[in-house]
Amino acid sequence: MLLQFPREPIATRDLRRDALERFRWRCRLPVLRNYGPEAGDLTIFVTACSDCGARTAKLATLDDIDPDTQLDGLISELRTRAGRARYGWRPRTCPACHAPDPEPISAVYARYMPEIEHDLHIELVFGRHRVVAVELHRVALDGAAVSLPRPSDPLAFQDAFGAPLGLRALWRAFLTRHVYDESMVVRAIEPGYVIGLRPFTDEPAEAEAMLAPFGPFIENLRAGAEGYRGWDAITFLYEREHEDIPVPFAESYHAWLGGYAAEIREGLIEPFVVADSDAFIDRLGEHAALYGLRVQRDSGEGALFVRVHGGHLDLRLNVGPIFFQILHQGLTFERGIVALFLRELRAMGEARKVPALVQGLLPTHQVRVVRGQFLELLDPAGERIAFADLVRLATHYDLDDPTGQAELTAELLARDPALANAPA
Ligand SMILES: [Zn+2]
Repeated sequence: MLLQFPREPIATRDLRRDALERFRWRCRLPVLRNYGPEAGDLTIFVTACSDCGARTAKLATLDDIDPDTQLDGLISELRTRAGRARYGWRPRTCPACHAPDPEPISAVYARYMPEIEHDLHIELVFGRHRVVAVELHRVALDGAAVSLPRPSDPLAFQDAFGAPLGLRALWRAFLTRHVYDESMVVRAIEPGYVIGLRPFTDEPAEAEAMLAPFGPFIENLRAGAEGYRGWDAITFLYEREHEDIPVPFAESYHAWLGGYAAEIREGLIEPFVVADSDAFIDRLGEHAALYGLRVQRDSGEGALFVRVHGGHLDLRLNVGPIFFQILHQGLTFERGIVALFLRELRAMGEARKVPALVQGLLPTHQVRVVRGQFLELLDPAGERIAFADLVRLATHYDLDDPTGQAELTAELLARDPALANAPA
Protein backbone atom coordinates (compact mmCIF):
# COMPACT_ATOMS: atom_id res chain seq x y z
CA MET A 1 0.00 0.00 0.00
CA LEU A 2 1.49 3.30 -1.11
CA LEU A 3 -0.99 5.78 0.28
CA GLN A 4 -0.88 6.12 4.04
CA PHE A 5 -3.38 8.96 4.34
CA PRO A 6 -5.65 9.49 6.21
CA ARG A 7 -4.23 8.21 9.48
CA GLU A 8 -5.56 7.91 12.95
CA PRO A 9 -5.11 11.27 14.70
CA ILE A 10 -2.60 10.95 17.55
CA ALA A 11 -4.95 12.89 19.83
CA THR A 12 -7.56 10.13 19.72
CA ARG A 13 -5.23 7.13 19.92
CA ASP A 14 -5.07 7.14 23.72
CA LEU A 15 -8.81 7.52 23.94
CA ARG A 16 -9.28 4.51 21.68
CA ARG A 17 -6.84 2.35 23.62
CA ASP A 18 -8.40 3.35 26.92
CA ALA A 19 -11.87 2.51 25.60
CA LEU A 20 -10.69 -0.91 24.42
CA GLU A 21 -9.15 -1.69 27.82
CA ARG A 22 -12.30 -0.68 29.67
CA PHE A 23 -14.47 -2.68 27.30
CA ARG A 24 -12.32 -5.76 27.87
CA TRP A 25 -12.16 -5.59 31.62
CA ARG A 26 -15.55 -4.18 32.56
CA CYS A 27 -17.86 -5.49 29.86
CA ARG A 28 -16.47 -8.48 28.10
CA LEU A 29 -14.47 -10.56 30.57
CA PRO A 30 -17.28 -10.67 33.18
CA VAL A 31 -19.65 -11.92 30.45
CA LEU A 32 -17.20 -14.61 29.35
CA ARG A 33 -16.57 -15.77 32.90
CA ASN A 34 -20.31 -16.07 33.53
CA TYR A 35 -21.57 -17.45 30.25
CA GLY A 36 -18.49 -19.08 28.73
CA PRO A 37 -19.33 -20.80 25.47
CA GLU A 38 -22.78 -19.23 25.38
CA ALA A 39 -21.51 -15.65 25.42
CA GLY A 40 -22.96 -13.80 22.44
CA ASP A 41 -21.15 -11.32 20.23
CA LEU A 42 -20.72 -7.93 21.88
CA THR A 43 -19.66 -4.53 20.51
CA ILE A 44 -18.86 -0.97 21.50
CA PHE A 45 -18.82 2.16 19.42
CA VAL A 46 -16.63 4.99 20.74
CA THR A 47 -17.30 8.59 19.77
CA ALA A 48 -16.05 12.04 20.75
CA CYS A 49 -18.42 15.01 20.50
CA SER A 50 -17.06 18.27 19.17
CA ASP A 51 -19.98 20.21 20.67
CA CYS A 52 -19.96 19.15 24.34
CA GLY A 53 -16.61 17.33 24.45
CA ALA A 54 -18.16 14.10 25.79
CA ARG A 55 -16.37 10.89 24.94
CA THR A 56 -18.75 7.97 25.02
CA ALA A 57 -18.78 4.26 24.27
CA LYS A 58 -22.11 2.74 23.24
CA LEU A 59 -22.42 -0.95 24.15
CA ALA A 60 -24.52 -3.24 21.97
CA THR A 61 -24.96 -6.91 21.15
CA LEU A 62 -24.69 -8.02 17.56
CA ASP A 63 -26.53 -11.28 17.15
CA ASP A 64 -27.36 -11.38 13.45
CA ILE A 65 -23.89 -12.00 11.98
CA ASP A 66 -23.69 -15.32 10.12
CA PRO A 67 -21.26 -17.47 12.16
CA ASP A 68 -19.98 -19.10 8.96
CA THR A 69 -18.70 -15.81 7.53
CA GLN A 70 -14.95 -15.91 7.16
CA LEU A 71 -12.73 -13.11 8.39
CA ASP A 72 -12.63 -10.95 5.24
CA GLY A 73 -16.40 -11.08 4.92
CA LEU A 74 -16.85 -10.37 8.61
CA ILE A 75 -14.56 -7.33 8.54
CA SER A 76 -16.25 -5.98 5.46
CA GLU A 77 -19.66 -6.46 7.12
CA LEU A 78 -18.43 -4.62 10.22
CA ARG A 79 -17.00 -1.77 8.12
CA THR A 80 -20.32 -1.37 6.35
CA ARG A 81 -22.28 -1.33 9.59
CA ALA A 82 -19.85 1.08 11.25
CA GLY A 83 -19.99 3.40 8.24
CA ARG A 84 -23.50 4.74 8.69
CA ALA A 85 -25.80 5.35 11.62
CA ARG A 86 -28.73 3.79 9.81
CA TYR A 87 -27.34 0.28 10.46
CA GLY A 88 -27.96 0.86 14.15
CA TRP A 89 -24.42 0.46 15.44
CA ARG A 90 -22.83 3.89 14.95
CA PRO A 91 -24.58 6.52 17.12
CA ARG A 92 -26.62 9.05 15.19
CA THR A 93 -26.22 11.70 17.87
CA CYS A 94 -23.93 12.38 20.82
CA PRO A 95 -25.36 10.34 23.74
CA ALA A 96 -24.56 13.27 26.09
CA CYS A 97 -25.84 16.40 24.27
CA HIS A 98 -27.64 14.93 21.24
CA ALA A 99 -25.60 16.95 18.74
CA PRO A 100 -25.69 15.14 15.40
CA ASP A 101 -22.91 12.96 14.00
CA PRO A 102 -20.30 12.74 16.79
CA GLU A 103 -16.81 11.91 15.60
CA PRO A 104 -16.20 8.13 15.51
CA ILE A 105 -13.03 7.02 17.30
CA SER A 106 -13.27 3.24 17.13
CA ALA A 107 -15.67 0.33 16.95
CA VAL A 108 -14.90 -3.00 18.58
CA TYR A 109 -16.53 -6.35 17.86
CA ALA A 110 -15.92 -9.30 20.21
CA ARG A 111 -16.54 -12.94 19.40
CA TYR A 112 -15.80 -15.83 21.74
CA MET A 113 -13.76 -18.80 20.47
CA PRO A 114 -14.84 -21.59 22.85
CA GLU A 115 -12.40 -24.15 21.42
CA ILE A 116 -9.45 -22.29 22.93
CA GLU A 117 -11.29 -20.22 25.56
CA HIS A 118 -10.13 -16.93 24.07
CA ASP A 119 -11.97 -13.93 22.70
CA LEU A 120 -11.39 -12.41 19.27
CA HIS A 121 -11.64 -8.60 19.18
CA ILE A 122 -11.86 -6.87 15.83
CA GLU A 123 -11.18 -3.16 16.27
CA LEU A 124 -12.03 -0.66 13.55
CA VAL A 125 -9.90 2.48 13.93
CA PHE A 126 -11.29 5.76 12.58
CA GLY A 127 -9.58 8.89 11.30
CA ARG A 128 -11.64 11.79 9.95
CA HIS A 129 -14.87 9.77 9.99
CA ARG A 130 -13.41 6.89 7.96
CA VAL A 131 -12.05 3.49 8.96
CA VAL A 132 -8.27 3.78 8.54
CA ALA A 133 -7.11 0.54 10.16
CA VAL A 134 -8.42 -2.80 11.39
CA GLU A 135 -6.70 -4.39 14.39
CA LEU A 136 -7.12 -8.00 15.53
CA HIS A 137 -6.59 -9.03 19.14
CA ARG A 138 -6.74 -12.43 20.83
CA VAL A 139 -7.73 -12.04 24.46
CA ALA A 140 -7.36 -14.66 27.19
CA LEU A 141 -9.87 -15.02 30.04
CA ASP A 142 -7.36 -13.40 32.41
CA GLY A 143 -7.38 -10.31 30.18
CA ALA A 144 -3.97 -10.85 28.55
CA ALA A 145 -4.22 -9.63 24.97
CA VAL A 146 -2.06 -10.20 21.90
CA SER A 147 -2.40 -8.27 18.65
CA LEU A 148 -2.02 -10.46 15.59
CA PRO A 149 -1.56 -9.63 11.90
CA ARG A 150 -4.50 -10.22 9.60
CA PRO A 151 -4.43 -13.81 8.29
CA SER A 152 -4.82 -14.37 4.57
CA ASP A 153 -7.41 -17.17 4.73
CA PRO A 154 -9.29 -19.42 7.21
CA LEU A 155 -6.37 -21.87 7.41
CA ALA A 156 -3.97 -19.06 8.28
CA PHE A 157 -6.52 -17.79 10.80
CA GLN A 158 -6.52 -21.12 12.60
CA ASP A 159 -2.70 -21.26 12.52
CA ALA A 160 -2.44 -17.78 14.03
CA PHE A 161 -5.32 -17.81 16.52
CA GLY A 162 -5.33 -21.49 17.51
CA ALA A 163 -8.95 -22.16 16.51
CA PRO A 164 -11.04 -21.73 13.38
CA LEU A 165 -13.18 -18.62 13.14
CA GLY A 166 -15.79 -20.94 11.64
CA LEU A 167 -15.13 -24.58 10.83
CA ARG A 168 -17.28 -24.58 7.70
CA ALA A 169 -15.23 -21.77 6.13
CA LEU A 170 -12.10 -23.63 7.15
CA TRP A 171 -13.38 -26.79 5.48
CA ARG A 172 -13.86 -24.82 2.23
CA ALA A 173 -10.35 -23.38 2.35
CA PHE A 174 -8.93 -26.82 3.24
CA LEU A 175 -10.54 -28.41 0.17
CA THR A 176 -9.53 -25.53 -2.09
CA ARG A 177 -5.91 -25.81 -1.01
CA HIS A 178 -5.63 -29.61 -1.15
CA VAL A 179 -8.11 -30.85 -3.74
CA TYR A 180 -5.35 -31.68 -6.25
CA ASP A 181 -2.73 -32.94 -3.78
CA GLU A 182 -0.96 -36.25 -4.51
CA SER A 183 -2.02 -38.03 -1.34
CA MET A 184 -4.44 -37.78 1.59
CA VAL A 185 -4.02 -34.79 3.87
CA VAL A 186 -5.23 -34.16 7.44
CA ARG A 187 -5.60 -31.19 9.75
CA ALA A 188 -6.15 -31.07 13.51
CA ILE A 189 -9.07 -28.88 14.55
CA GLU A 190 -9.13 -29.22 18.33
CA PRO A 191 -8.24 -31.98 20.83
CA GLY A 192 -9.94 -35.16 19.65
CA TYR A 193 -11.01 -33.74 16.27
CA VAL A 194 -9.19 -34.07 12.93
CA ILE A 195 -10.47 -33.41 9.41
CA GLY A 196 -8.98 -34.93 6.29
CA LEU A 197 -9.27 -35.28 2.53
CA ARG A 198 -8.55 -37.90 -0.05
CA PRO A 199 -7.88 -35.62 -3.07
CA PHE A 200 -9.45 -35.70 -6.52
CA THR A 201 -9.23 -38.73 -8.76
CA ASP A 202 -11.62 -40.69 -10.98
CA GLU A 203 -9.42 -43.81 -10.91
CA PRO A 204 -10.39 -46.24 -8.11
CA ALA A 205 -6.84 -47.65 -7.96
CA GLU A 206 -5.41 -44.17 -7.56
CA ALA A 207 -7.95 -43.36 -4.86
CA GLU A 208 -6.87 -46.45 -2.96
CA ALA A 209 -3.20 -45.47 -3.27
CA MET A 210 -3.96 -41.97 -2.01
CA LEU A 211 -5.63 -43.47 1.09
CA ALA A 212 -2.72 -45.83 1.80
CA PRO A 213 -1.40 -43.63 4.66
CA PHE A 214 -4.82 -43.80 6.36
CA GLY A 215 -4.13 -46.92 8.44
CA PRO A 216 -0.78 -45.72 9.82
CA PHE A 217 -2.34 -42.30 10.48
CA ILE A 218 -5.09 -43.85 12.65
CA GLU A 219 -2.54 -46.05 14.45
CA ASN A 220 -0.46 -42.98 15.15
CA LEU A 221 -3.49 -41.15 16.60
CA ARG A 222 -4.37 -44.13 18.77
CA ALA A 223 -0.81 -44.17 20.06
CA GLY A 224 -1.63 -40.77 21.59
CA ALA A 225 0.04 -38.48 19.04
CA GLU A 226 -2.72 -35.85 19.27
CA GLY A 227 -3.88 -36.49 22.83
CA TYR A 228 -6.63 -39.03 23.52
CA ARG A 229 -6.36 -42.65 22.42
CA GLY A 230 -9.80 -43.81 21.35
CA TRP A 231 -10.42 -42.04 18.03
CA ASP A 232 -13.49 -44.23 17.62
CA ALA A 233 -15.35 -42.08 15.08
CA ILE A 234 -14.13 -42.34 11.50
CA THR A 235 -16.71 -40.92 9.13
CA PHE A 236 -16.67 -39.73 5.51
CA LEU A 237 -18.93 -36.81 4.62
CA TYR A 238 -20.54 -38.78 1.76
CA GLU A 239 -21.83 -41.28 4.35
CA ARG A 240 -24.62 -38.84 5.07
CA GLU A 241 -26.11 -40.17 1.83
CA HIS A 242 -25.75 -43.85 2.75
CA GLU A 243 -25.90 -44.22 6.51
CA ASP A 244 -28.58 -43.26 8.92
CA ILE A 245 -27.08 -39.93 9.93
CA PRO A 246 -29.95 -37.49 10.52
CA VAL A 247 -28.35 -34.31 9.15
CA PRO A 248 -30.76 -31.86 7.52
CA PHE A 249 -29.79 -30.94 3.97
CA ALA A 250 -29.45 -27.24 4.90
CA GLU A 251 -26.85 -28.12 7.56
CA SER A 252 -25.03 -30.76 5.51
CA TYR A 253 -21.93 -30.46 3.35
CA HIS A 254 -24.23 -29.74 0.40
CA ALA A 255 -24.88 -26.34 1.96
CA TRP A 256 -21.42 -25.35 3.24
CA LEU A 257 -19.23 -27.16 0.71
CA GLY A 258 -21.58 -26.34 -2.15
CA GLY A 259 -18.88 -26.03 -4.80
CA TYR A 260 -17.65 -29.56 -4.07
CA ALA A 261 -20.92 -31.32 -3.27
CA ALA A 262 -21.19 -33.21 -6.57
CA GLU A 263 -17.58 -34.45 -6.37
CA ILE A 264 -18.14 -35.61 -2.77
CA ARG A 265 -21.38 -37.40 -3.55
CA GLU A 266 -19.81 -39.14 -6.55
CA GLY A 267 -16.73 -40.15 -4.59
CA LEU A 268 -14.28 -38.15 -6.72
CA ILE A 269 -12.95 -36.57 -3.53
CA GLU A 270 -13.41 -37.96 -0.03
CA PRO A 271 -13.44 -35.51 2.88
CA PHE A 272 -13.51 -37.28 6.25
CA VAL A 273 -13.51 -36.66 9.98
CA VAL A 274 -11.73 -38.65 12.67
CA ALA A 275 -12.82 -37.86 16.20
CA ASP A 276 -12.60 -39.20 19.73
CA SER A 277 -15.91 -39.54 21.57
CA ASP A 278 -14.16 -39.14 24.94
CA ALA A 279 -13.02 -35.67 23.85
CA PHE A 280 -16.60 -34.82 22.94
CA ILE A 281 -17.85 -36.06 26.33
CA ASP A 282 -15.18 -33.96 28.05
CA ARG A 283 -16.43 -30.82 26.26
CA LEU A 284 -20.04 -31.79 27.04
CA GLY A 285 -19.12 -32.21 30.70
CA GLU A 286 -17.46 -28.80 30.86
CA HIS A 287 -20.52 -27.20 29.33
CA ALA A 288 -22.97 -29.14 31.52
CA ALA A 289 -21.10 -27.94 34.62
CA LEU A 290 -22.45 -24.45 33.87
CA TYR A 291 -25.89 -25.92 34.69
CA GLY A 292 -24.78 -27.78 37.81
CA LEU A 293 -24.69 -31.11 35.96
CA ARG A 294 -22.03 -33.82 35.75
CA VAL A 295 -21.61 -36.00 32.68
CA GLN A 296 -20.02 -39.47 32.67
CA ARG A 297 -19.62 -41.99 29.91
CA ASP A 298 -21.85 -45.01 30.48
CA SER A 299 -20.99 -47.35 27.62
CA GLY A 300 -18.00 -48.97 26.01
CA GLU A 301 -16.96 -48.83 22.37
CA GLY A 302 -19.65 -48.88 19.74
CA ALA A 303 -22.21 -46.87 21.70
CA LEU A 304 -22.24 -43.45 23.27
CA PHE A 305 -24.43 -43.37 26.35
CA VAL A 306 -23.80 -40.89 29.12
CA ARG A 307 -25.19 -40.44 32.59
CA VAL A 308 -26.12 -36.91 33.52
CA HIS A 309 -26.21 -36.26 37.27
CA GLY A 310 -27.28 -33.19 39.19
CA GLY A 311 -28.76 -33.27 42.70
CA HIS A 312 -31.12 -36.26 42.68
CA LEU A 313 -31.43 -36.15 38.90
CA ASP A 314 -29.75 -39.10 37.19
CA LEU A 315 -30.52 -39.62 33.50
CA ARG A 316 -29.04 -41.99 30.95
CA LEU A 317 -28.91 -40.56 27.42
CA ASN A 318 -27.66 -41.68 24.03
CA VAL A 319 -25.56 -38.79 22.70
CA GLY A 320 -24.15 -40.77 19.75
CA PRO A 321 -26.53 -39.15 17.23
CA ILE A 322 -25.59 -35.64 18.45
CA PHE A 323 -21.90 -36.49 18.19
CA PHE A 324 -22.22 -37.63 14.56
CA GLN A 325 -24.47 -34.72 13.65
CA ILE A 326 -21.83 -32.29 14.94
CA LEU A 327 -19.14 -33.92 12.78
CA HIS A 328 -21.38 -33.94 9.70
CA GLN A 329 -22.61 -30.39 10.19
CA GLY A 330 -19.12 -28.89 10.06
CA LEU A 331 -19.17 -27.73 13.70
CA THR A 332 -16.55 -27.88 16.41
CA PHE A 333 -17.57 -29.74 19.59
CA GLU A 334 -18.51 -26.59 21.53
CA ARG A 335 -20.33 -24.92 18.65
CA GLY A 336 -22.15 -28.19 18.04
CA ILE A 337 -23.20 -28.54 21.68
CA VAL A 338 -24.57 -24.98 21.66
CA ALA A 339 -26.35 -25.55 18.32
CA LEU A 340 -27.76 -29.02 18.99
CA PHE A 341 -27.87 -29.80 22.70
CA LEU A 342 -28.35 -26.54 24.59
CA ARG A 343 -32.09 -26.90 25.10
CA GLU A 344 -31.56 -30.33 26.66
CA LEU A 345 -28.78 -29.08 28.94
CA ARG A 346 -30.90 -26.18 30.12
CA ALA A 347 -33.91 -28.44 30.70
CA MET A 348 -31.85 -30.88 32.77
CA GLY A 349 -30.27 -27.98 34.68
CA GLU A 350 -33.76 -26.79 35.61
CA ALA A 351 -35.02 -30.31 36.35
CA ARG A 352 -32.20 -30.69 38.89
CA LYS A 353 -33.77 -27.87 40.93
CA VAL A 354 -37.36 -29.15 40.90
CA PRO A 355 -37.34 -31.48 43.97
CA ALA A 356 -35.98 -28.83 46.36
CA LEU A 357 -38.28 -26.20 44.87
CA VAL A 358 -41.37 -28.38 45.35
CA GLN A 359 -40.31 -29.28 48.89
CA GLY A 360 -39.98 -25.58 49.68
CA LEU A 361 -43.41 -24.82 48.22
CA LEU A 362 -45.10 -27.78 49.96
CA PRO A 363 -43.19 -28.12 53.25
CA THR A 364 -45.61 -30.54 54.88
CA HIS A 365 -45.58 -32.95 51.93
CA GLN A 366 -42.83 -35.43 51.24
CA VAL A 367 -40.88 -35.21 47.97
CA ARG A 368 -39.00 -38.22 46.61
CA VAL A 369 -37.04 -38.75 43.42
CA VAL A 370 -37.62 -42.13 41.79
CA ARG A 371 -35.09 -43.72 39.40
CA GLY A 372 -33.30 -40.39 39.04
CA GLN A 373 -36.00 -39.15 36.73
CA PHE A 374 -39.41 -38.88 38.40
CA LEU A 375 -40.79 -36.78 41.21
CA GLU A 376 -43.07 -38.57 43.65
CA LEU A 377 -45.17 -36.54 46.06
CA LEU A 378 -46.70 -37.91 49.26
CA ASP A 379 -49.28 -35.90 51.16
CA PRO A 380 -48.92 -35.32 54.94
CA ALA A 381 -50.86 -38.56 55.55
CA GLY A 382 -48.24 -40.47 53.52
CA GLU A 383 -50.48 -41.09 50.54
CA ARG A 384 -48.91 -40.80 47.11
CA ILE A 385 -50.67 -38.01 45.18
CA ALA A 386 -48.37 -37.19 42.27
CA PHE A 387 -45.80 -38.87 40.09
CA ALA A 388 -44.26 -36.79 37.28
CA ASP A 389 -41.24 -36.56 35.01
CA LEU A 390 -38.76 -33.99 36.34
CA VAL A 391 -37.66 -32.74 32.93
CA ARG A 392 -41.24 -32.30 31.81
CA LEU A 393 -42.11 -30.29 34.93
CA ALA A 394 -38.99 -28.15 34.46
CA THR A 395 -39.73 -27.33 30.84
CA HIS A 396 -43.49 -26.98 31.24
CA TYR A 397 -43.50 -24.38 34.02
CA ASP A 398 -41.55 -21.18 34.55
CA LEU A 399 -39.90 -22.14 37.83
CA ASP A 400 -38.43 -18.68 38.50
CA ASP A 401 -41.81 -17.02 38.37
CA PRO A 402 -44.40 -17.17 41.24
CA THR A 403 -47.21 -17.79 38.73
CA GLY A 404 -45.29 -20.69 37.21
CA GLN A 405 -44.64 -22.10 40.69
CA ALA A 406 -48.33 -21.83 41.56
CA GLU A 407 -49.25 -23.71 38.37
CA LEU A 408 -46.68 -26.38 39.18
CA THR A 409 -48.05 -26.99 42.69
CA ALA A 410 -51.62 -26.94 41.32
CA GLU A 411 -50.74 -29.79 38.97
CA LEU A 412 -49.05 -31.81 41.69
CA LEU A 413 -51.87 -31.30 44.20
CA ALA A 414 -54.59 -32.20 41.70
CA ARG A 415 -54.85 -35.71 43.05
CA ASP A 416 -54.62 -38.30 40.29
CA PRO A 417 -57.02 -41.16 41.23
CA ALA A 418 -55.04 -43.62 39.05
CA LEU A 419 -52.08 -43.31 41.39
CA ALA A 420 -53.69 -45.08 44.31
CA ASN A 421 -53.42 -48.41 42.51
CA ALA A 422 -50.30 -47.73 40.43
CA PRO A 423 -47.10 -49.55 41.33
CA ALA A 424 -44.55 -47.43 43.15
ZN1 LIG B 1 -22.07 16.06 22.78
